[in-house]
Amino acid sequence: MTQSYDLIVIGGGSGGIAMANRAARYGAVTALVAAGPLGGTCVNAGCVPKKIYWNAAHLAGQMKMAGEYGFDTIEPRFHWEHLKQQRDTYIGRLNDRYAQGLDGNGVSLIRGHARFSGAHRIHVGDSTLEAAHILIATGGHPVWPDIPGAELGITSDGFFALESRPRCVAVVGAGYIAVELAGVLHALGSDVSLVMRRRHFLNDFDPMLRESLMDAMLRQGISLLAQREVRELEKRADGLCLHFHDGDCLGGLDAVIWAIGRRPNSADLGLEFANITADPQGFIPVDAFQNTDAPGVYAVGDVTAGPALTPVAIAAGRRLADRIFGNQTERHLDTLVVPTVIFSHPPIATVGLSEAVAKEQYGEEAVKVYQTTFTPMFRAFAAEPEKTAMKLVTVGREEKVVGLHAIGDGVDEMLQGFAVALRMGATKQDLDDTIAIHPTSAEEFVTMR
Ligand code: FAD
Ligand code: NDP
Repeated sequence: MTQSYDLIVIGGGSGGIAMANRAARYGAVTALVAAGPLGGTCVNAGCVPKKIYWNAAHLAGQMKMAGEYGFDTIEPRFHWEHLKQQRDTYIGRLNDRYAQGLDGNGVSLIRGHARFSGAHRIHVGDSTLEAAHILIATGGHPVWPDIPGAELGITSDGFFALESRPRCVAVVGAGYIAVELAGVLHALGSDVSLVMRRRHFLNDFDPMLRESLMDAMLRQGISLLAQREVRELEKRADGLCLHFHDGDCLGGLDAVIWAIGRRPNSADLGLEFANITADPQGFIPVDAFQNTDAPGVYAVGDVTAGPALTPVAIAAGRRLADRIFGNQTERHLDTLVVPTVIFSHPPIATVGLSEAVAKEQYGEEAVKVYQTTFTPMFRAFAAEPEKTAMKLVTVGREEKVVGLHAIGDGVDEMLQGFAVALRMGATKQDLDDTIAIHPTSAEEFVTMR
């Protein structure tokens, strides 16, 4: 028997749940098909467990500084197993809360893998479902390198499944995940090498950020292996051995983590039955309103080529529900100002254009940059204090702020408010006219010369 709905959502992650709940609240008869645990990547193998480890790593750093503030020096022992158990319990509660939320909104939850069999029809196991509107929100998966022995390593999914802390680990990659996992593992006591194929990591970000972070990581004792392309991973008696194209190798490793990007989950959806063609990388093309090439079929989140961030997937899903079921015909996602934080040690916060991109877009002459580097007061007693660096990128005579970048303690929690200001078109004068909060690091953003 075929079951009919107003809306079928494929994928129970950030974007899918957001749209399903909002559509159901508008009165749409909604089904959500979930192949994995509710909450998707973010809750189960992404933002949430990562932030828990980041919190632990941050605490480890704070405890190291306690002596400088007059406390007896303590050498705390860290129990990975304990934290993992706490984490799993917490995530279990979140999974339940998502199920209750869907139930409370009247969304039918169908467990299984969905596949199109027509533009408005999908199969889940033996069931057939139909709807006038179908959302694809199937997220993505980590990339594995195509080299011999790759299967001896793990990806971020494997990292979150680790039952104990690896003693000696190599993280291969140069993006968010490589930097975040390398930092967490080091702070929790592992011997970490970060292996990148170019000279730097975080190459798409303002250079001030990656240069400051590279300095900090080197000072902390993380080994940064630049311009190393991996050729093979081999298992030896004394552990894993990573071979590079230049003939060099890194041995004695307990774990190798591949953090070389993610790809969309679109291959096994039967897209051809819906007349949708994914791009060469597997992303589903959408317009600004999340419409795919097939009328009535939409896509949001990591399965599309937009920024792969949870709040972006959620915003796209909710706005789509507002448009289709809430009569807000022009409502759509605006990705012009997307703030983002890299949970490194110290964290990075960035929104808008880097200095280089601003100059490309507006011309050298039109861009004026304000930059500062300082020791945050909290670190005042340290022999080699970790600095905070901040940059404002402005354009035009009115000095409209088009980019705001920072690395340092607490910048992760500073960024959200400044993102509102940027969205509203703040100028340097607006920042200057804002009364500072003293003594904080954030005040530097409104006192820069
Ligand atoms: P997902 O959350 O991946 O959900 C897709 C769901 O669809 C999955 O549950 C999957 O099982 C299901 N599915 C797939 N195919 C089918 C099918 N055929 N039928 C039924 N169900 C299907 N973002 C941030 O903003 N902040 C962070 O700090 C952050 N940290 C991250 C850390 C890591 C290690 C990773 C990997 C990602 C992180 N992200 C972070 C990115 C964030 O997790 C994603 O952008 C977000 O989860 C995307 O949401 P989504 O709904 O598109 O997909
Ligand atoms: P990213 O796309 O951020 O980075 C992967 C990088 O790995 C590439 O940019 C590339 O850098 C490098 N790389 C690619 N192939 C290879 C290779 N064969 N060998 C060595 N290095 C390689 O991917 P991630 O996996 O780190 O994260 C995926 C996405 O998830 C992020 O882009 C982000 O959107 C999201 N995310 C967000 C987080 C947050 O908000 N805090 C945290 C984690 C993930 P290069 O070309 O410079 O070598």
